[in-house]
Amino acid sequence: MAFSNLHVHSCYSLLDSIATVEQIVEYAVENGQSAVCISDHGNMSATILSQRLAREKGIKCLAACEIYEVDDDTFKNNTKEYKETRYHLLLIARNNIGLHNLYDIVSFANTEGQYIKPRIDINRIKNNGWGRGIICLTACQAGRLSKYLVNDMEEEAEEYMDDLDDTFDKVYCEIQSHSTQSQVEANKLIYDFAVEYDYPYVITTDAHMIAKDDVDSHAMFVEVSIDRELSEQYIDCFMQNEKDVLDILSNQLPIKAIKQGMQATQEIVDMCEQVDVGLDNEPQMPHIKVPSEYKNSTEYLRYLCYKTFYEKFGWMNEEEQQIRRERIEMEIPVLEELDFVDYLIMLNMISEECRRRKIPLGYSRGSGANCLCLFMLNVTQIDSVRWGLDFSRFANIGRKGTLADKSLSGVVEILRIIKVMNPITKGCYINDIANRGTLARYGEGNPVPSV
Ligand SMILES: [Zn+2]
Ligand SMILES: [Zn+2]
Repeated sequence: MAFSNLHVHSCYSLLDSIATVEQIVEYAVENGQSAVCISDHGNMSATILSQRLAREKGIKCLAACEIYEVDDDTFKNNTKEYKETRYHLLLIARNNIGLHNLYDIVSFANTEGQYIKPRIDINRIKNNGWGRGIICLTACQAGRLSKYLVNDMEEEAEEYMDDLDDTFDKVYCEIQSHSTQSQVEANKLIYDFAVEYDYPYVITTDAHMIAKDDVDSHAMFVEVSIDRELSEQYIDCFMQNEKDVLDILSNQLPIKAIKQGMQATQEIVDMCEQVDVGLDNEPQMPHIKVPSEYKNSTEYLRYLCYKTFYEKFGWMNEEEQQIRRERIEMEIPVLEELDFVDYLIMLNMISEECRRRKIPLGYSRGSGANCLCLFMLNVTQIDSVRWGLDFSRFANIGRKGTLADKSLSGVVEILRIIKVMNPITKGCYINDIANRGTLARYGEGNPVPSV
């Protein structure tokens, strides 16, 4: 018998889980579990980091997501009275086909399906063939199977399972190793249902924290959240090993069934190939077609940099101008070596288009202010020489392969118009709560005077 936690939320389930990706991987390694599997709510933000850390530790890593499924993802009703029922469903990629289908499902849910939460309906998954290569688990008490069974809707439950069976490679009824009264009831109903209709079942923990001792700090953490899913209770939502599962479930299910439910986690891990999330890929830089009178992009970049030189520095004395010429000549070979030249030209094209459309861009943000060429290209509005800003913070040869960030918001449409990249995809910000935020949130949850 072997047990792995296959339903785990990391801190990318924002304001819901306090477990970091590092801690989750460490727990699995320390407890001799055969795989890590993070299934955050509606996003796969932990995927790359968990895959990288698991590879370093030599442990298998599954890619997963707990999605929100609804009856009809096109239906969006923007009224106060309207309360849509969203159901949880856990999807695990069993191979690279499944991984890319999972990406499609999560991307759709976060763009076109987005309404309060990222949503999608089962029909869409089925009609697009996105269930191929995916193992489906029926999730927690917010899942449809659990809801149907506790509401005495066995026929609907059966139809639903047929629907999932037609959509995904393999479907498991999920029994959660929790002792809350509502979960105990749900577990019994799910187990009886699985046995009666001969569905495989699997035991999960729906972990939102690492250890049982974290339960109080976790409770404080979720109190600061708004829009809670009230049906979720967290008392046993910690990472568990075989002993924990036996302790919690032994008075709920026959021992043999518990062992089988734990063994099913191993069965799922074995069914899943190690997916390739592109850990070894190089960053893909844009390539720009430069006007034909320029030999190459570097020559064109140099032209663009000097094009604004007299407008910007013409009023300075020769010595000041010379310092800036030398700085530009120092920066360009580094940018060339790092393959950043086309990237900078692209930023110039974006900022020119923004200016033409009167879209405000701001002065600069992050290390972009340290690059004089970006100032010459009108991407930033900061003369880095004047303010003594070190170029190596933006780019240096020792950091080859690391991308400098230069964020310009609201430019996806412009990128499409100037046709520098195809396809263009919308990025997203990944947020978490760091030290200062933690103190502020603690203050919100605890009515103590603050200074
Ligand atoms: Zn759930
Ligand atoms: Zn969950």
